[in-house]
Amino acid sequence: MIDMHDVWKEYPNGTVALRGVSVQIQKGEFVYVVGPSGAGKSTFIKLMYREERPTKGHIFINGFNIERLKERKVPYLRRSIGVVFQDFKLLPRLTVYENVAFALEVIGASHRQIRRRVKDVLEWVGLADKAHMLPAQLSGGEQQRVAVARSLVNNPTVIIADEPTGNLDPDTSWSIMKLFQRINDRGTTVVMATHNREIVNTMRRRVIAIEEGRIVRDEQRGTYGYED
Ligand code: ADP
Repeated sequence: MIDMHDVWKEYPNGTVALRGVSVQIQKGEFVYVVGPSGAGKSTFIKLMYREERPTKGHIFINGFNIERLKERKVPYLRRSIGVVFQDFKLLPRLTVYENVAFALEVIGASHRQIRRRVKDVLEWVGLADKAHMLPAQLSGGEQQRVAVARSLVNNPTVIIADEPTGNLDPDTSWSIMKLFQRINDRGTTVVMATHNREIVNTMRRRVIAIEEGRIVRDEQRGTYGYED
């Protein structure tokens, strides 16, 4: 369902961020992407939801051919993928409810569908009682739960997360990781770039290590495996 073949990414300033990356990720897998700062992890993640385009190579995500995808079809790709960021990226003037509902409004769901679906996902992440608060009234961990709820609201087959615990303390990081574990238990593929050594070494899953734009390791039940 995620298939990259000999993917290269050169940014306009000449920086080559990925150098011939080939990888396949099957439905239902849980994959950590690790590597030093500047290795190319974010670029790898951004190519999957077409925030960036490859300079060379082939990328298929959920049946979408990323190189050939027309601009007007990008929303269909994005609907099949949920994305979670380190800095949450919530809209500050919207309530928790509205932040989550927004993703459904843009696809033209009915009010009734929106109410039911938003209520369900907020319950699922344990925030039903905070629906009418603003992001600034929540802790970092709660804000990340809202972002996770938003990423799930369209029932995506893949969740992509770029350092989702990077701004959180260790206990909160664990609770967010348990949420991703539950998402994966439902059969949703999870691809997560992370610097969290303890989590990678405890919740053992497939580990793809990137260094200087190349995949240098790809192990089932792998470890973090390098010194920061
Ligand atoms: P990581 O997520 O592993 O820290 P990145 O994918 O963010 O790595 O970056 C890989 C390389 O690409 C780095 O050298 C970085 O400076 C460079 N880079 C990332 N984004 C851009 C950009 N928009 N323009 C130019 N260079 C970039």
